[in-house]
Amino acid sequence: MSSQEAALRQTDEAILSIENLQTSFYTDKEVIRAVDNVSFDIYPGETVGIVGESGSGKSVTARSIMRLIDSPGRIEGGRVMYKGENLLDKSKRQMRGIRGGEIAMVFQDPLTSLNPVYTVGNQIKESLRLHRGMTGRKATREAINLLEAVGIPDAQRRLREYPHQFSGGMRQRAVIAMALACDPDLLICDEPTTALDVTIQAQILELLEELQEERDLAIMFITHDMGVIAEIADRVNVMYAGEIVESAPVLELFESPKHPYTQGLLNSIPGHGLEEGDRLATIEGDVPTPNEKPTYCRFAPRCPKAFDACDTVHPVPIDVHEGDVDHRASCLLYPEELPTEEAVARHRERETTGGDDR
Ligand code: SF4
Repeated sequence: MSSQEAALRQTDEAILSIENLQTSFYTDKEVIRAVDNVSFDIYPGETVGIVGESGSGKSVTARSIMRLIDSPGRIEGGRVMYKGENLLDKSKRQMRGIRGGEIAMVFQDPLTSLNPVYTVGNQIKESLRLHRGMTGRKATREAINLLEAVGIPDAQRRLREYPHQFSGGMRQRAVIAMALACDPDLLICDEPTTALDVTIQAQILELLEELQEERDLAIMFITHDMGVIAEIADRVNVMYAGEIVESAPVLELFESPKHPYTQGLLNSIPGHGLEEGDRLATIEGDVPTPNEKPTYCRFAPRCPKAFDACDTVHPVPIDVHEGDVDHRASCLLYPEELPTEEAVARHRERETTGGDDR
């Protein structure tokens, strides 16, 4: 984010504020705390990346925002403030209006959003009818405009085609056109480029950036891919086992990652900080299932810097930047300037009092 954008962000109201969101899944064996006390903001015109390995809680966070959590899942706590109103207080009918209207979602597999038995044109026009009351020629004209806006050539003809007649990249463009049909203020993209080859992926990322600029869209972008995050995000939240473990503007995160998990993710990107002959690092092991209240650091079993206290003290978010950049990491190694024992005591105290460094 440029300094100008940063200044703008300070004066703007966040369009979405997630506060202490808690979503759990109740199985016969255990309670899985899939989203565990997650908080972050998204401002108009900003792209906020949520990055982490599979099982970290990224998609459940998105589905919680949209109130798309089915049994045995439950949103158990926190607030999802959208334009100043808590979406968790909305009725099912109100949420249907908001979903696909104010907030639209693009998934990894475009076929989950497209119905194979209707033409692409019909599906876009249905969205225009439902959310903007457009019908007839006006809807057809707008559907053509939308397909053109997402870079689909020969839009008039392609409106009459079915999803199977589109290539993977074109299908994802059509889904983005459908999402835009509702003229949303916030677009949630859940791994929208993961199934695409790198060239098409780059085109879709470029398209999202163009659309964002034209429409002042806020974008929440979920991915496991740090390379994609570097391309698209202004700000990044790193998730691990249901929690946000680090949050920073994208350049700051890449230049000065603080949490050992983020450092591991960055070391596993080909070319990132590697000298010739260096081997690409991997983080050994898997993301644990967060099936108990965290009284320790969930990353400890995989952390190369773990020490005794990591098994008994839960790290809280600590301000890890000296200037005015908003950079926080949840790790007992911080604040760096304190001796480790004192840093650990600060985490213990904040965990008990429910405070953090914000
Ligand atoms: S708290 Fe300990 S285990 Fe967790 S990331 Fe920091 S050093 Fe590693």
